[in-house]
Amino acid sequence: MVDTQLVPRGIRDEPVLLAMKKVQRHIFMPESTRSAAYEDRAVPIGEGQTISQPYMVAIMSELLELTGSEKVLEIGTGSGYQAAILGELAGDVYTIERVSALAESAGRTLESLGYKNVHVFAGDGTLGLEDKAPFDRIIITAAAPEIPAPLVNQLREGGILVVPVGERYSQVLLKGRKVRGEIVKESYTNCAFVPLIGEYGWKE
Ligand code: SAM
Repeated sequence: MVDTQLVPRGIRDEPVLLAMKKVQRHIFMPESTRSAAYEDRAVPIGEGQTISQPYMVAIMSELLELTGSEKVLEIGTGSGYQAAILGELAGDVYTIERVSALAESAGRTLESLGYKNVHVFAGDGTLGLEDKAPFDRIIITAAAPEIPAPLVNQLREGGILVVPVGERYSQVLLKGRKVRGEIVKESYTNCAFVPLIGEYGWKE
């Protein structure tokens, strides 16, 4: 997966490549879809949701510019796979999932693998986690109509936010840096994430 999908597409961050070699994607998937674990695509995980394409996990992780000590907020825990990769690359990871069955199952998987620095919460991630803010990095792994205002407020000055923004089923991956309270954005690849549903996302 790393040698055939990530390196040829330009992923160069060595710690990201090492984390993606180390964390086994199939462990985060239901038995019924595990045979597709190392394919070059998003795969269903139940509840109408998906585990993201490995390349998307890699590029989003790389764009976060992690050095090992950051406090990271992830919106959209899903299977917990991206959270585990972040757990390898950052200090503490707070991850929020709207579907409680997925939050529970991801929490169990992460605990069984010993990720003591990854903390799973159930709820509407568009509101962030006020009592744990500010965050050095924020990653949204579902498609947002725009960057949720509470998350901009909870990002530390100079911090980085990575999010797919656009239409409900087709988006552009954005990296934003908070400069004097505003998000300065750069666009990366086109993508297609499941919708971010919540108070500052899409309506159900
Ligand atoms: N990062 C995940 C992984 O590694 O498996 C993949 C995430 S999946 C593409 C998007 C997830 O975002 C879904 O599980 C969905 O339920 C969740 N989601 C959508 N809206 C949300 C919200 N407002 N708050 C938290 N999670 C949300």
